[in-house]
Order: sequence, then C-alpha cells, then structure tokens
Amino acid sequence: MASSSATGAALVWFRRDLRLQDNPALHAAVQSGRPLVCVYIHEAGSAFELAPGAASRWWLHHSLIGLSGAISALGGKLVLRSGDAATLLPAISREAGCSEAFWNRSDVPHISARDCPLARQLESVGVKARGFRASTLIDLPTHLNGSGAPYRVFTPFWKSALKTLEPRAPLPAPTRLPAGPEIASEALDSWNLLPRAPDWSTGFDADWTPGEDAAHARLDSFLANALGQYPEDRDRPDIEGTSRLSPHLAWGEISPRTIWHRARAQAEQTGLYKQTEKFLSEVGWRDFAIYLASHFDDLRRMNFNRQFDHFPWRDNPAGLDAWKRGQTGVPIVDAAMRQLWATGWMHNRTRMIVASFLIKHLGVHWREGMDWFEDTLVDADLNVNAASWQWVAGSGADAAPYFRIFNPVTQGERFDPDGSYVRRWVPELAGLGRKQIHAPWSEPAGVLAMAGVTLGKTYPHPVIDLKTGRDQALEAYQSMKSDAQAAAVLGIDS
Ligand SMILES: Cc1cc2nc3c(=O)[nH]c(=O)nc-3n(C[C@H](O)[C@H](O)[C@H](O)COP(=O)(O)OP(=O)(O)OC[C@H]3O[C@@H](n4cnc5c(N)ncnc54)[C@H](O)[C@@H]3O)c2cc1C
Repeated sequence: MASSSATGAALVWFRRDLRLQDNPALHAAVQSGRPLVCVYIHEAGSAFELAPGAASRWWLHHSLIGLSGAISALGGKLVLRSGDAATLLPAISREAGCSEAFWNRSDVPHISARDCPLARQLESVGVKARGFRASTLIDLPTHLNGSGAPYRVFTPFWKSALKTLEPRAPLPAPTRLPAGPEIASEALDSWNLLPRAPDWSTGFDADWTPGEDAAHARLDSFLANALGQYPEDRDRPDIEGTSRLSPHLAWGEISPRTIWHRARAQAEQTGLYKQTEKFLSEVGWRDFAIYLASHFDDLRRMNFNRQFDHFPWRDNPAGLDAWKRGQTGVPIVDAAMRQLWATGWMHNRTRMIVASFLIKHLGVHWREGMDWFEDTLVDADLNVNAASWQWVAGSGADAAPYFRIFNPVTQGERFDPDGSYVRRWVPELAGLGRKQIHAPWSEPAGVLAMAGVTLGKTYPHPVIDLKTGRDQALEAYQSMKSDAQAAAVLGIDS
C-alpha cells in the first residue's frame, strides 16, 4: 500500500536486474509512494565490479536502452552514472533529496559483501537502505543440509529444495513510475560498451534481442514449441531444443521465479510435467552454482577440490590460441568455438566438449577457458561460468570425475549425428558426409579431395592426436594424485 505521508524521493539502484516485472526492490520503492530516482551505475574497473566481458557489454548496451525506454513510458527516468557506487549512491541521494534507497542484492560474494557497509554509509547520511533477494529461486543462505552445513552435491540440494520450494508468485510490473527530481545522466554512448571496429559482434543481432520484452517472448516461444521435446533435444547442438534464456537470466531481464510459475502453469495445461521438471532442474543448476559461490571460497580463482592445486598444467599458448580461434582441427570443437565467436553463445553440450578438450587434451588450466568464456559469452555469469569450468575440470563440487574425458569424435557422432552443426560453423568441411565429418584425419586423401578438403591447407591437422592427449591427461591426473598424497603425508597445505 502506498504511503501518502512519505517525504523525500526513493532511489532505486538497478544492477543485474534490468527488469520491471518481479523486481522486488523496484516494487517496494513504488509501494513507498515516493517519487523515484532510478539509477544504473557502470562500475567497470572498480575494486568491486569486474568489468563485464566484451560480449556482455554489447548486451548491456542494448538492455539499458530497453530498460530506459520502459521506465520513460511509465513516467520515470533512468539515470546513468559511471564510477564507484560507494561514492555515487550517497552523492545522488543528496542531489535528489532521497530518504530511502532500494536495491536487489548481488549474488557475487565479494560484491554482496559490500552491501552492508554501503547501507551503513547511506544511513549515516540519513538514507534508509533496503536490500532484497531477486535472482534465485531458493533462499540460498538458509538452504542447508540436515547437519546445518551447505550442500556440496546437486541432487540432495535440489531434492530438498523441491520439498519446500514454492517460490512466491512473481510481482507485477509497476503501472506508473513517478519521476523524482531531475538529475544529470551520462550518455550511454559515452561508455563505449559496443565493440570498436573491426566489430566482431555484427552477427549478434540475428540471434538476440536484449531486454525484458524479448525475454518474455523467448520464454513463451520455448514453452509453446520446444518444452515437449526438451529432455531429448536439450543435448543436441544441431537443434534449437533449449530456451536460450541464459543471457536474459544473466542480466536479470527475467526472474527465475517468473520462469518457474510460467512453466508450471504450462505443465498444468499440457500435462508436460516430466519435461517441465527437467527444464526447471536446469534452472536449479543455476541456483546451485550461485549457491556454491556464496558458501565457499572464490570459485573463480581457487580449486574447490584443493588436490587440484597440484595439477601439472601445461603451458600451451599455441593450443589455447587454436582453441580460441576455432582452428584446432577437431571439427565439433571448432564448430562450437566459432559459434561462440559469431553469436556470443554456445550450446551446453558443446560447452562441455570444448572445455574438456582444452583442459584435458590440451592440458590448459581451466581458468584460461573460463576467462575466454567470460569475455565472449553474452550470458557470462561469473558464478555459473566458474562452477561449470570446475565441474568439467573435475576440481569442482559435484564435478564430473577428471578421468571422464570426452572423446570429441564420438560426442560429435552422437549429438550431431548428421554433421549439420559442424557443416554450419565449419563450412570448409561441408562437402564431407556424416560418417567422415567428425574425424576427417581418418579419411583417405582421395575422399577428402572429393569434398574439397586438404588437411593442413583448407582445414588444419588436429593440434593433438586424440589418444596422445587422453594418455597425457591421465598421466597428469596420476601425478597430481601422487603429489597431493605426498603433500598430505608431509603436512604441506596446498
Ligand atoms: C564450461 C561451461 C561454462 C558455462 N558458462 C555459463 C555462463 O557463463 N553463464 C550461464 O548462464 N551458463 C553457463 N553454462 C551453463 C549452460 O551451458 C548454459 O546455461 C546453457 O547452455 C544456456 O542455454 P539455455 O538458456 O538454452 O539453457 P536451457 O537448457 O534452456 O536451461 C534454462 C536455464 O537454466 C540454466 N542452466 C541450464 N544449464 C545449466 C548448467 N549446466 N549450469 C547452470 N545453469 C544452467 C540457465 O540459466 C539456462 O538459461 C556453462 C556451462 C559450461 C559447461
């Protein structure tokens, strides 16, 4: 209920929650009855906010245009400022005469750690600060196992969540956003979020429309057209079988609660219960990654399993470079890395394949791959990305065992059975048939010549023989285990 006696404006600080619907901080600010000062602060490079990667900056630019337009349409204004939030929030509050500040808490641990000092700082200048939880399904801090400790394994985490979880219904979008005092805003273009020439993001427009409306449209389309086949199709990079909601979720353009309720409602109508549960459990994996990051040490920089501190990573700049450029000579890996470069996104199955190839066949530290993904994914999410890389490396919580080494050829044959995914992204192999396309090096030169392929000329030789890479990976794993055991016997902390 709006309070008519409220004096002073309310500051609403938008962060990775670029939406009007189901935005608890915005909702509470509107309910306060105060005029609103809506602010987005570009903190790139501050001690607290890591600069978003290049693909994420592209997304942010367009998303802010959408959010700003939606706020204006309701009578408000989105103020853009760049700098340190700790300096800007009190300054803006003073400038606009705000007596309350509302924001949704960050899920990145070192960022959320400063929310309390920020709130105290604001309170010391007479501004009451109020924080909300907005980006996960589960109340992560209080979701603990029977012994009161954080879960380390997804299945019990999710099973116990499902017993108690009934996320509240999404909050409606406001119908009016009464603008507070006019204060200066920076020009979005001055932030230079879009790539400079040569612009590699020209293909993004064909695949993506950032913003809240597009997020809802994508969810609707997925529920209507793909949910029924999701459990089977979700592993096929050659099929549009998943929701592609990840960048919208990463920027908070749609809330997981909205997804939960809309999917459940669809299941009631269509009877697609099993498919809906599978889909929602994937959204649960996102919660789990954020949960791990909030309960354990810095997952972006430290191995969750400290035995991996003894892993003998290889210095392999040429391999890493070939991997980034999609020139490894291993077709499914190259197709996926080129899809990432061209569209800012990659299918989950191929994310696992390329990560396994980099870490295990090429022996490169998982952090190198994580950093590249952070820079090139439109859905880059620091927590999910780090947890996923550690999952593939075997160093993470509930991780795939290290010795599970994906064979990119059999993975390709299984999940891209007629080779159409490879043909799309590696056109120089398009002349090869389904039986040849995933391992061109095994084919006689004559067969390759008929398809216009000359290894070493039109397409690279593999950067590593797959069997050699696998053997080296297993040797490295044994050596890590021996070193970790020796360190434990000697009482040396890793
Ligand atoms: C090495 C590696 C790095 C990854 N980095 C990221 C990242 O930076 N950001 C990111 O959002 N996802 C990341 N993922 C998880 C996953 O690949 C993507 O979330 C998924 O491909 C997004 O496609 P979608 O929206 O169509 O997924 P859908 O299958 O439609 O799933 C719906 C939503 O559930 C969540 N989700 C799905 N799969 C996973 C998963 N395995 N782990 C956690 N959440 C999941 C996502 O939010 C997704 O949008 C990574 C996976 C791997 C293996």
